[in-house]
Amino acid sequence: MSQAVAGQTLSGTPQLTVPAVPVREIMPWLVFFAVLGMIAVYFVSAEQGATSLFAGTNIHEWVHDGRHLLGFPCH
Ligand SMILES: [Zn+2]
Repeated sequence: MSQAVAGQTLSGTPQLTVPAVPVREIMPWLVFFAVLGMIAVYFVSAEQGATSLFAGTNIHEWVHDGRHLLGFPCH
């Protein structure tokens, strides 16, 4: 006879259960974060450099170190 205590039986055998998450539930979040990632990469790599959606250099200055860190051409 064994009792379950915080996911482990008293006999010493760990009980590990991984819940199955359907792809249908993950897909909207995957698309959402992929779009956010692409927007972030755009602003770091090309905004106020190769292209410019916003006037001025504020965005360039905010992401300037990231641009150099990731190896995008800058100056
Ligand atoms: Zn630079």
